[in-house]
Amino acid sequence: MDKKKKIATKNVSTKFAAASAWDKISPAEEKELQNYAKRYMDFLGTCKTERETIDYLIEKAQRNGFKPIDGGQAAGSLKPGSKVYWVSKNRALCIAVIGKQPISDGFKIVAAHHDVPHLDLKALPLYEKHKLAFLKTHYYGGIKKFHWCAIPLALHCFLITKSGKHLSFSIGEKPNDPVFTITDLPPHLSYKIQNDRKATEVFKAEELNILAANRPKPAKGDEKIEEPVKAAVLEKLQKEYGIQEEDLAWAEIAAVPAFSPREVGFQGDMIGGFGHDDRACVMAAFEAINEVKVPENTAVVILIDKEEVGSGGASGAQSMMVPDFLCLLVEATTRVSSYSFLRKVLGASMVLSADTNAPIDPNFEAAWDAQNSGLLGSGVWICKFTGSAGKSGSSEADVEFIARIRNLLTAGKIPYQFGEMGKVDEGGGGTVAKFFAQLNMHVLDLSLPVLGLHSPFEVLSKIDYHYTVKAYKAFLEKKF
Ligand code: MN
Ligand code: MN
Repeated sequence: MDKKKKIATKNVSTKFAAASAWDKISPAEEKELQNYAKRYMDFLGTCKTERETIDYLIEKAQRNGFKPIDGGQAAGSLKPGSKVYWVSKNRALCIAVIGKQPISDGFKIVAAHHDVPHLDLKALPLYEKHKLAFLKTHYYGGIKKFHWCAIPLALHCFLITKSGKHLSFSIGEKPNDPVFTITDLPPHLSYKIQNDRKATEVFKAEELNILAANRPKPAKGDEKIEEPVKAAVLEKLQKEYGIQEEDLAWAEIAAVPAFSPREVGFQGDMIGGFGHDDRACVMAAFEAINEVKVPENTAVVILIDKEEVGSGGASGAQSMMVPDFLCLLVEATTRVSSYSFLRKVLGASMVLSADTNAPIDPNFEAAWDAQNSGLLGSGVWICKFTGSAGKSGSSEADVEFIARIRNLLTAGKIPYQFGEMGKVDEGGGGTVAKFFAQLNMHVLDLSLPVLGLHSPFEVLSKIDYHYTVKAYKAFLEKKF
């Protein structure tokens, strides 16, 4: 028998378990936590569409000293501590603070998506039936369609008129605004038509029609108005906004929940609202980069669109927009502008893919492997790979990279937990991680848990949000 050295076993723990992150917070940090939560709720209640999110953040970034970068900067003009931003197609926003280290050492990037599943109006939405006017919709992203009935909805409209005027307005957000809704079938009458439908078809896509009016346009004398309720709606749109029916086809019009974010639970320790996925990570990353002074490596936050529909399009993570912005940064900080140099910088870069994940829900625990699931309130969530089935649609973080993240979180005393999205083969989902990995960067999914993901009223814990800001800040700022 070998005389191998005996390893002491008295401290061996049989189980890794994430503790409640609430136990880690100091009284001094408590105030900061509540301030983060307050600002986040303001952001979430104000920004219900992608365009509104970008506008809100640009305004805040400008106020915090970030300057636009457009490619017109002299080569090498940006210095450590310079703060810049760049907007792509008014749908994606990139923000950076130049670091002390040479840019050839790579960027530190936090990437989050600001699009949220919702209902869009079809090009020609308005019709009248049985003395009611409705708006036809086409859903965006992975929704449970029945979630969208019997709740108050607001319409958010952006349009460029024939004469080139930009029109942006919402109906249903102010306390005295009327709202919209999609009515459900009463239980008294749903025996045959609805009760035996599968959950995915309780409401079918073509039944997601928004109730828009009841009062008809009054006829003058012998005048015969063919669709008087629809006519009344068109008259109102013409009068209030100068819009005609065809203008609707040229507009972006989204229907979103009309309610505001609220604190949830007896202690107000959670936040419920529309769009935590992924505006929680958007705002956490934005808070983090605003706190960064002069980082080690150049710190970058990339806020992208279209993740919920596959990250395509000019403002999505698959777009050349991402390397385009990073190329601008390379040129403006060095005097080198060759493709091979850019490739070298990208290859040395590290990315946190910041996208909310689904923690175990005790009402439906059979969907999760309890030992490998995130918990609400246990801190930031590390997910080495995402995807579904045999890790399909995932990129896998390299151990060399995640070992460094482990050190970073440990040094910053940031509580963390591990988990996959549900049981293997139960379902799953991807993030933008793989698109950054395609650029040959190191990528890890690091985010926070959200209950009721993709519902109109998702719930997160203030403590997870707090530590997500801390984790992103440490990542963007520190050498590790
Ligand atoms: Mn999502
Ligand atoms: Mn997401």
